[in-house]
Amino acid sequence: MLDFTLTPEQVALQQRAREFALAEVLPIAWYYDEANDMPLAVLRKAYDAGIMNLDIPKAYGGQGLGLVEAAILTEELAAACPGLATSIFDNSLGMEPLLLSKNEDARKRYLPQILNDYKKICFATSEPTMGSDVAGMRCRATEDGDDYILNGTKYWITNGGVADYASVFATVDPKKQHDGICAFLVETDWPGVRVGRPIPKMGQRCSNTVALKFEDVRVPKANILAPPGKGFVLAMKTFGRTRPIIGAFGVGAARSAMEFSLDYAQKRKAFGMPISGFQAIQFKIAEMYQKVETARLLTLKAAWEADQNIDPTLDASIAKLYGTEVALEVVNEALQIFGGYGYTKMFPVEKLLRDVRLLRIYEGTSEVQRVIIAGYVMSQYQPVMPPLEDLPLHREADPLADGGTGTAWRCRICGHVHYGDDAPEECPYCFFPQSAFKKVS
Ligand SMILES: Cc1cc2nc3c(=O)[nH]c(=O)nc-3n(C[C@H](O)[C@H](O)[C@H](O)COP(=O)(O)OP(=O)(O)OC[C@H]3O[C@@H](n4cnc5c(N)ncnc54)[C@H](O)[C@@H]3O)c2cc1C
Repeated sequence: MLDFTLTPEQVALQQRAREFALAEVLPIAWYYDEANDMPLAVLRKAYDAGIMNLDIPKAYGGQGLGLVEAAILTEELAAACPGLATSIFDNSLGMEPLLLSKNEDARKRYLPQILNDYKKICFATSEPTMGSDVAGMRCRATEDGDDYILNGTKYWITNGGVADYASVFATVDPKKQHDGICAFLVETDWPGVRVGRPIPKMGQRCSNTVALKFEDVRVPKANILAPPGKGFVLAMKTFGRTRPIIGAFGVGAARSAMEFSLDYAQKRKAFGMPISGFQAIQFKIAEMYQKVETARLLTLKAAWEADQNIDPTLDASIAKLYGTEVALEVVNEALQIFGGYGYTKMFPVEKLLRDVRLLRIYEGTSEVQRVIIAGYVMSQYQPVMPPLEDLPLHREADPLADGGTGTAWRCRICGHVHYGDDAPEECPYCFFPQSAFKKVS
């Protein structure tokens, strides 16, 4: 059964998120972007409005909503400000390793605090010298009695400057690569945790991005989210569930760019008529709309798979790749429709362009998504079509004629089909010998 309609509850959530985005996020987005500051008060309002931490399971007192709901909500927030949406969503990213881990005791201790006490949790895999190559991390975890001691630096950590907790990935031995990776829940006020200065960024300036340094930070074994050797898989499973939401960021931002373009094109006049009258502009808007719709479908499909406990890894990569790449294309075309004004800070598209540029980088770059998709297609995908060398491709004899085509041989090199009991001694087209021919009928 295939059903593309949202449930009444999902429509209500969409409406609630939309109202919040329009009333609380949109009016402050440009000011805080200009100030290069994170509007913590709005983060708090999002928490109070129940649009943060949607994914905390009911067993721990949460709403227990799925990724489809997260995608619906995130589209609305990102439509108003991708940067602030990143910070609001970051709790779900930071929490995902805890939700996926086998450490039920840690879930019982931390999830109620995140839910009830407005505790913020960030996600820390990347380092100054490593982002895509997760197995190449250097942050060291050394076993010491009932604890592990953490030493190293995590870089690019969204909300790192405001979070109470961090899901930190580390290695017991960098030489072990994947087999050495482990993960811990670290409280950021523990001795030895230091927070770097906010990193000055091109866009998403309403979100906080810092380094976290760990100097002999003692982490009790009770806070292990993944023991050594299991951390890499935990990180990848986390991305499988968070990448669809990055696709939703793209959908929201692209949708706004399309809507702003439509409005502008209907009002701006050139050559005596609104520019929306020119087919060149209409086609741009048509493409924008088509890309928003397609990206949303891919995003919801990946989110739905995750909610159905179907491994979402592949479709999460497709949703992330497509949603974020088309977001950049759509916003860029929007800027073109705005002409010179698009290039100014007095109109909204310039900020959107800076904000969406990040989407192709974090949570796995576009190149990394292509590596994942290529890996699947090259090694696991099962083609429906026969191999080329088995393809009859009759052009000179009619397969529907009485008696069919008789015996046919196909040259594996140039594709020539020869009819007769035996293959020819050589191919008349490419001159390859008889051995190049394969019987196809
Ligand atoms: C604003 C911001 C917020 C972020 N938030 C977080 C966060 O909260 N937590 C966190 O852990 N990280 C976070 N990140 C880090 C982010 O996930 C990384 O920047 C990203 O994964 C890329 O890693 P890198 O920057 O080290 O680039 P690199 O891995 O050094 O890659 C550099 C270039 O090489 C390409 N490349 C690398 N490997 C391959 C390959 N095998 N094939 C083809 N091309 C390849 C990349 O695609 C890229 O174009 C954030 C980053 C930014 C900028």
